Amino acid sequence: MLSLKHVSKSYQNGSEVTHALNDVSFDIESNQVTVILGPSGSGKSTTLNILGGMDRPTSGTVTYNNNFINTESDKQLTDYRKEIVGFVFQFYNLISNLTVFENVAISAQLENKKYRNITEKYLQKVGLLKRKNNFPDQLSGGEMQRVSIARALAKSPKVLLCDEPTGALDTETSKRVFEILKKSKSKDTAVVIVTHNPLVAPIADRVIHIKDGRVDKIIDNPSPLEVE
Ligand code: ADP
Ligand code: ADP
Repeated sequence: MLSLKHVSKSYQNGSEVTHALNDVSFDIESNQVTVILGPSGSGKSTTLNILGGMDRPTSGTVTYNNNFINTESDKQLTDYRKEIVGFVFQFYNLISNLTVFENVAISAQLENKKYRNITEKYLQKVGLLKRKNNFPDQLSGGEMQRVSIARALAKSPKVLLCDEPTGALDTETSKRVFEILKKSKSKDTAVVIVTHNPLVAPIADRVIHIKDGRVDKIIDNPSPLEVE
């Protein structure tokens, strides 16, 4: 559904050029969890930014259901980000003066008359309906991340992009968050996770290893040892 073909990305700072990505090609499929692994500085964030329409490649193409994302206008790119992509961040990015319910509801399209049901459905899904009237600072890290997943899911994204979603969480909490991300894939939704956490292994359908801005290898149905 989402496809990178021969994508390169360079950053120019004065006379210095950094080649963050060099000729990267791979596909993201719905109903799969795709895990992007690689050492620090290898190009993972750049890849995620391009997949999410936050950044454009220097060369190469990005297509979503055969529509070219990289050649679209800024307006079309904004619509793609809003309508197609959901984001989960390492530090949750919840709004601190809104309740759990409100944080999720603003994503569930308030103009939609069913926003209450939608919000409660996803809070239930992440096991936090009973916390709906709490504020983010009354929650543990794992709970905040689960709220942020509910918020991302409430807009029914076709692509859920997760940047180090367990980077600030302990082992047990990480496992729970990964289980919820696994349940978030569907025939309409692809899940993409950038992580260093080997606990992601049991939920990975495809692993893309990135090294020095290139795809090192792509492994489908990886064994746990292939997710490190
Ligand atoms: P990772 O997420 O794997 O740590 P990044 O995609 O953040 O890797 O970075 C890949 C390379 O591109 C690194 O060398 C990084 O320093 C460089 N880079 C990333 N963003 C910028 C930027 N805005 N300007 C200049 N260089 C950048
Ligand atoms: P974690 O190890 O996952 O970060 P914590 O030790 O922070 O968990 O929290 C354990 C439990 O206490 C969680 O259910 C959390 O929601 C609750 N909790 C933590 N801080 C507060 C608070 N300020 N007000 C209400 N509940 C809290």
